[in-house]
Amino acid sequence: MTSPSTVRVRFCPSPTGNPHVGLVRTALFNWAYARHHGGTAVFRIEDTDAARDSEESYTALLDAMNWLGFDWDEGPATGGPHAPYRQSQRMGIYADVAARLLDAGHAYHCYCTAEELEERREAARAAGRPSGYDGRCRTVTPEQRAAYEAEGRTPIVRFRMPDEPVTFTDLVRGELTFAPENVPDYGIVRANGAPLYTLVNPVDDALMEITHVLRGEDLLSSTPRQIALYRALADIGVGGGGVPAFGHLPYVMGQGNKKLSKRDPESSLNLYRERGFLPGALLNYLALLGWSIAEDRDIFSMDEMVAAFDIGAVNANPARFDLAKAEAVNATHIRERLTAEEFTAACEPWLRAPYAPWKPEQYDPAAFAALAPLAQTRVTVLSDITENVDFLFLDEPVADEKSWQKAMKPGAEAVLGTAREKLAALPEWTAEALKEAVQTAGEEHGLKLGKAQAPVRVAVTGRTVGLPLFESLEVLGRDRVLARVDAALARLTA
Ligand code: GLU
Ligand code: ZN
Repeated sequence: MTSPSTVRVRFCPSPTGNPHVGLVRTALFNWAYARHHGGTAVFRIEDTDAARDSEESYTALLDAMNWLGFDWDEGPATGGPHAPYRQSQRMGIYADVAARLLDAGHAYHCYCTAEELEERREAARAAGRPSGYDGRCRTVTPEQRAAYEAEGRTPIVRFRMPDEPVTFTDLVRGELTFAPENVPDYGIVRANGAPLYTLVNPVDDALMEITHVLRGEDLLSSTPRQIALYRALADIGVGGGGVPAFGHLPYVMGQGNKKLSKRDPESSLNLYRERGFLPGALLNYLALLGWSIAEDRDIFSMDEMVAAFDIGAVNANPARFDLAKAEAVNATHIRERLTAEEFTAACEPWLRAPYAPWKPEQYDPAAFAALAPLAQTRVTVLSDITENVDFLFLDEPVADEKSWQKAMKPGAEAVLGTAREKLAALPEWTAEALKEAVQTAGEEHGLKLGKAQAPVRVAVTGRTVGLPLFESLEVLGRDRVLARVDAALARLTA
């Protein structure tokens, strides 16, 4: 961590739909940047679009932040010196700022109708001229205004862009310049008085003294407009007067080299929660979408990320979202970054309803703890745990016909019968003794251990694959093992 600074970042999602991984990556880079610099991380809710925003989505966002472990310094749940942090509660501020921008001449009323705008846009296109707003209402005479109003037109408020280029140095992309003909005057308040994102976002950044704006590349085209607006806000005395630095995070590509969309199933944060990703592992993977901690290293904790994070090292090229890689990172975190106790605790939700197929009274924490270390090296996501240990808690092994057919070939009955005798005769019920018993049973039938143990595994667990067999049998106990082998033999001889 560098010395305390005035770095102030914000993460400012709109509460629409379910949280998605693109959003989480933006949150992560902002949070890590603030923490690395000893700065302040602000969480703000941009809910000025009543038609699209929902309370449900707002709650889901807060819940996601908690699950991911983001400890915002200021925000709707925490409060702070710039409260409220929900834009829907700041409408008076925006109306006031819009009025002052109009008074100062930084904005003007635009009376053009949608049809008129469309007509002129078409004409400009046909003539090969830039097709953005043409500035017509920059100079409306009092007579014209009276005439428009007599017609019943209600104006929008439009921001007046400066007539010179806007240049800024993007923290990821370097110096960028936007020519005025490509950045036309734009609407900031609707005809019905509702302020737009284009206004409220920079106004709050100015008032909340945001120093660094890190956000997705899809917002890059709005940056010159916003920079001009910050300057106008400084001119009318709104906010601290500075223009924040901008860094635009690379696009995330999904399947088929298309931009990952909110609608793609693999972009839903809930999917990762329900499957049992560790929040730290998911964040580790998402950090790799544009950043890397070091060459040949892709596993790290959030503390390690915070210590190393550098926005200047973010790659401007599109990143590729790779579910298999995300799973591999998660499996590595489970295997290498959790103690046995942490792993056992993390599995808890999947060992109970509604995830677990057994009844609460069938669950035996001691039996689980005995096998958990073996499972820890084998699961990719925590939800894998249920099928790995269900044989311990269900009265009977799961009925998996495919496994049965595979293991119970002709000859299985004979070796299973011999194994049953040897298991029943064991003086000590230990994994080692169990293994030896099944091995000798196999030898008597000319079978290697692998072939000999397959019918035993299916008889006892119902499946052809699973945790190491003999440790599993040891924990399950002699009575239950023998009863299951007997049941399988009965089925084979029926
Ligand atoms: N509410 C905006 C969004 O979700 C924030 C954009 C920004 O970071 O400036 O797209
Ligand atoms: Zn107009």
